Amino acid sequence: MSENLHLLTVEEASAGLVAGHFTSVELTKACLAQIEKLDGKVNAFVRVEADLARRQAVESDARRAAGKALGPLDGIPYNLKDVYATKDSPTTASSHILEDWQAPYDATVYRKLCEAGAVLLGKTNTDEFTMGGSTENSYYGVTRNPWNLERVAGGSSGGPAASMAAHFGMFAIGTDTGGSIRQPAGFCGVTGLRPTYGRVSRFGELPMASSFDQTGVLAKTVRDAAMVLEVISGVDPLDATSSPEPVKPYLSLLKDNEKPLKGVRVGVAAEFFGEGVDPRCEQLVREGIEVLKAQGAEIVEVSLPHLRYAIAAYYILVPAEVSSNMARYDGIHFGQSIERNDPKAGTSLNDVYSKTRGEYLGAEVKRRIILGAHVLSSGYYDQYYNEAERVRTVIAQEFAETFEKVDVLAAPVSPAVAFKIGEKVSDPLAMYKEDVLTVPVNVGVISGLSVPCGFVDGMPVGLQLMAGKFREEEILKVGAAYQQVTEWHKQPAPLLNQ
Ligand code: GLN
Repeated sequence: MSENLHLLTVEEASAGLVAGHFTSVELTKACLAQIEKLDGKVNAFVRVEADLARRQAVESDARRAAGKALGPLDGIPYNLKDVYATKDSPTTASSHILEDWQAPYDATVYRKLCEAGAVLLGKTNTDEFTMGGSTENSYYGVTRNPWNLERVAGGSSGGPAASMAAHFGMFAIGTDTGGSIRQPAGFCGVTGLRPTYGRVSRFGELPMASSFDQTGVLAKTVRDAAMVLEVISGVDPLDATSSPEPVKPYLSLLKDNEKPLKGVRVGVAAEFFGEGVDPRCEQLVREGIEVLKAQGAEIVEVSLPHLRYAIAAYYILVPAEVSSNMARYDGIHFGQSIERNDPKAGTSLNDVYSKTRGEYLGAEVKRRIILGAHVLSSGYYDQYYNEAERVRTVIAQEFAETFEKVDVLAAPVSPAVAFKIGEKVSDPLAMYKEDVLTVPVNVGVISGLSVPCGFVDGMPVGLQLMAGKFREEEILKVGAAYQQVTEWHKQPAPLLNQ
């Protein structure tokens, strides 16, 4: 038993700990052994924190032995995308500029997981400051897809997603600004939940675009994602944008029964199946929708005509916020500085700013700073930024109206399966277009979930489920019902057989 403990879900591991079948130390050891065995090939981790994990596991076992276990996540090993400030481990956002940067405080998400007794295995890879969709923008190298090592794992949460497919822990925490949880989850054949903006505190989450960024969960099952969401959600006095909306008992709202989706209206919008979607992926998604129908759901055709503007609005608003958020990386406040590292580089304030950024920020980050500064500049502000804000409002309204007619929307996650490493790096526009089906959730301030629904060319395909603002329980219900009768999420990636 003990050698395959890493294969367990959160639910199974939690039950096993309660029953005393194994300890958190054994569970943690199994995950660390799996990381040791396979991460050389995958590169899911920026940093493995083996000593910290063992220490947290020992503490968990001691609590349990004393009858003081903290709840269902006590003793469960997981990883954090490397964008959360933690006092226990450096935080880099996969950027050169934050190499070895040590945060002086803990992100609320990490604090909550510590208070729940979960065991941190380490920090996982991302595109630099989460800008990208393939982790090819990471200073620490690309993360490879466990289904095919020549292909990307997706991004920006490529590390967390690959870590689930490779069983490097029981769950992973990531962020999704425009698809960064759902797209890599789809590419790696795992479950990815992006809650509504404001559901989870952003305090201590290194920002990319503050009005879009949101923490969520990558997991092996929808039920596990529900369990974790319950722990990390909630209003936080340290984040004024966190919502006071009550946290629901997401897991216990999921019920096993024969026709679990009776009375649930599943919307299908042609706008999500448009040009550019691989017909083989579309076919699998449509078969997935049939599965929902067989479970009692009513399928309703809907239309959201303004969705086609979501991607354009996103790529104006996000760089605008990026250009402002990145201003803090100036060689003075945080991280690496040319002044310290290269005394010959010049000492004027301008030299420090420009040379530090020139040296320590990657190409995509610089591209977005320039784009963002442009759309915010006088003369262009109205034409681009304000116009995009208006589009955002229209799309949010369109979603709100749609969710009066349906409970969830079903669609593909991405236009196609994971692409080859290097295939799109020199074409930023092609990379941006990959996000066309995920950004509507972020622009429209709703919630989204990705569940595996089949394979094309041996690569996983994701079914995307969307629900209205703070209606995470709806997508969780539909996703869990889907996984109750399908086996796609249980298929092992070929890497596991090596
Ligand atoms: N790929 C999208 C982008 O590059 C989404 C990134 C994200 O969600 N962090 O902006």
